[in-house]
Amino acid sequence: MLLEPRTVKLSTRTGIEVHRTIPHGRRRTIGAWCFVDHFGPTVQTDGMVVAAHPHIGLQTVTWLFEGQVEHRDSVGSVQLIRAGEVNVMTSGRGIAHSELSLADSELLHAVQLWVALPDSERNRSAHFEHRGDLPTVELNAHGATAKVFIGELAGAAAATQVFSPLLGAELRIPAGQSVTLSMTPNWDYGVLVVDGRATVNGEYVDTRELVALEPDATQITIEAGADADLLAVLLGGEPLGEPLLMWWNFVAREHNEIVEARELWNSEGPARSARFGADFEDQIGGWIPAPELPNLILQARY
Ligand code: MN
Repeated sequence: MLLEPRTVKLSTRTGIEVHRTIPHGRRRTIGAWCFVDHFGPTVQTDGMVVAAHPHIGLQTVTWLFEGQVEHRDSVGSVQLIRAGEVNVMTSGRGIAHSELSLADSELLHAVQLWVALPDSERNRSAHFEHRGDLPTVELNAHGATAKVFIGELAGAAAATQVFSPLLGAELRIPAGQSVTLSMTPNWDYGVLVVDGRATVNGEYVDTRELVALEPDATQITIEAGADADLLAVLLGGEPLGEPLLMWWNFVAREHNEIVEARELWNSEGPARSARFGADFEDQIGGWIPAPELPNLILQARY
């Protein structure tokens, strides 16, 4: 199933536009992956200036191809992230963070992914993890590689903490080459083409598109287009099997949880700190209020 991206303008100081493939009208999740945004490549002056905002019920996974981003959050983290490193922020019951791309390099090119926490883990304490020790594995003898940032692929495992069986890896396949990867039975898989073009199990996938693999597939064959090296992100995971209610920066199950989280974030007082952590200083200043709720009861969906 080919998922074309839609352009979404984020509520940032610079009004950055991103290309979003998940959730999609035809496909909501890949395993527990519930949100796939592709940023850039863009010049840093148009980059990421996202003031403090909250999350509940998810992990954010930030993965850069180019550029640098400073992350700060309400559990006290101050962390610069570069290409080839991963930031995983587990919101649990509540966290707030800000993201600022730095002007040290010309381009910002990244994905931000969300992982829905299973019901049994979604009220856990907030936590932040940065890893620079991620494994790279050769996929053939001609320069095709995978860098694994979540889970395990082709014998290489990342130690990043997640709460359901999950895979995330950056694939680099030279022009004209192909690789074949085995799939875990009953998992969902998707391939996001970040740069170049690919044919995935016979289906042509253009830049910025995501192909969700058919459930009966047993292996993934990815062929890079003849004219350009392929940069892609492979996502996989066991289906969560739980309906999700996603609104703004929150992943929940029921409407009243969204109402409560929204009111607490906008209240700017001790109740807000109790839920989302202490206010923190950053170079951006201010915070992003939650928007008005739509005039209807939000429903969780599979
Ligand atoms: Mn965020």
